[in-house]
Formats: sequence, C-alpha cells, structure tokens
Amino acid sequence: MTFELDGARRIGALQEDRVVPLDDVATDMLGLLNGADAALDAASTVLDRAANSILLSDVRLCAPICAPPQVLGIGRNYMRKPEDVRHRGKQVWFSNSPSSIVGHGEPIVVPASAPSVDYEGELAVVIGREAHDIRGEDEAHAVIAGFTVANDVTNHDWLSQSPTVMLAKSYTGNSPIGPWLVTRDEIPDPYALRIRTWVNDELRQDGTTADMLNRITQQIEHLTEHLTLMPGDVIMTGTPAGTGNRMDPPRFLVPGDVVRIEIEGIGVLENPVVAGRKR
Ligand code: MG
Repeated sequence: MTFELDGARRIGALQEDRVVPLDDVATDMLGLLNGADAALDAASTVLDRAANSILLSDVRLCAPICAPPQVLGIGRNYMRKPEDVRHRGKQVWFSNSPSSIVGHGEPIVVPASAPSVDYEGELAVVIGREAHDIRGEDEAHAVIAGFTVANDVTNHDWLSQSPTVMLAKSYTGNSPIGPWLVTRDEIPDPYALRIRTWVNDELRQDGTTADMLNRITQQIEHLTEHLTLMPGDVIMTGTPAGTGNRMDPPRFLVPGDVVRIEIEGIGVLENPVVAGRKR
C-alpha cells in the first residue's frame, strides 16, 4: 500500500491490522514495481522481520499508485443481458487522465455545471513490467503485478457532449483506486470474484468477474498489439450491471453520498461525494 504518516508518503505491506513499512525496499510503488522480483524478494525479507510496524488505523491510505504512467479502461465488458454477448471480441478502449487518480477516502467531485456523475465498480489490474506484443494467457498473466479496486467514475454530461470518452473519465479526483494493491499470487482466479457497489446503504451493483466478456489476458494481448504497457499502468476491466445511468429514471451521485465498492479477496474502496466549485 501507499500511505501517509506525519505528512510523509511511504509504501508498506499489510499484515493483519498493521502496516510494515517498506522504506528499505523502495521509496514509492513505482519503484517497487520497477524493482520486479528482486524488490518483492526484498519486501518478503522485511516482512519476515516485521519490526517497526504501524497500526493500519494510524495511517492515511493513498492511491496504491499515485501517478500511474497510463490509466486505461474498457467499456461494455460485462454480460448484463444475453445480447451483450455480441460485444465479446470487440474491445472498446479509452483512457482516464492519470491526474484523475485518488485513493480510498478521497472525495469524488460533482461539478456544478455537469452534475450527471455515476459510479462504476471495477476490478483494476496493475501492470508489473514493460509489455509489448504479448501473446497467450501465460505471457499476459506474467505482466500482471496485482489487483486493486477501482471506481471508474463517469461524467455522463461530458460523455454526451464530447466525441471521445476521455474527458468524461478524467475530472480531477474522479478515478479512485485502492485501498491497496493485492499481488497476483494472492488472487488465484481473477474471474471468480464477487464485486459489489453500495451508494450509502443501498446495494446497486452485485456482480461477478466471471461475467467479463473479454478476459484480462485478452485485454492485455489486445492492448499490447497497439501500445506498450509500463510498470504501474492501471487497467480498469469494466463494470457489471447496476450503474445509475441505466436506471429509469437515472440516479446519479449527489454531494453527501458515499460510494463503497468491495471486491472479494481485495478489499473495500470507499469515497465520499462532494460538490465541485461553481463556474
Ligand atoms: Mg468503466
């Protein structure tokens, strides 16, 4: 995880309710990921000693990767109804600005001039090594560092007003990820995870990653045919049924709401919703 304590930003590993600082391994998560297997081995050694651990409740969590090189998202990637199967094999990609990334607990902002802001609970993949022209499940699996929870917040006013998706996904603060990165070895089957989103106490999304139309490894193969993935890149893998824009009438987020997304085996990402400045 990336955390702050006494104004300093550091990385650490969670052990039950305590954080073991990894200052001796790397200064930030990108450093840890760029250090590859050697850095993970060094982290294990630190964990075995587990000296100087800090209570989790004493730290402030930050986005696990504060400044990802790239943030990419796939649209229409879940089976919501039988005819959605036609989207299998068709991958619709967009990017979220890396500057829109925030962590657990940080606010989602509703701009006064464009208030149709929606949640999208998603499994996020974090890339661990430079990857170009990846072929096959094994090669694709090997470039995954781990997983986290994402809220791929969409501004539907800007989605309809702009010819591309990017502006609707990039408002500062509106790509929460967290609470931490769970390494690949801890998630033996990423296609069997329950994913739920609550707005306040109301369960809005209750899906499973088994309903992805294009698997994560297919996403990595397809992306790396076109571009190079870098350590720290975040891939948002699509959202299951239950988003507010599909309700009749649509139910967008309003200031005062709290959005909570839980993915089995990873954790809970919770963010309050606040009003943006008027302009
Ligand atoms: Mg999405």
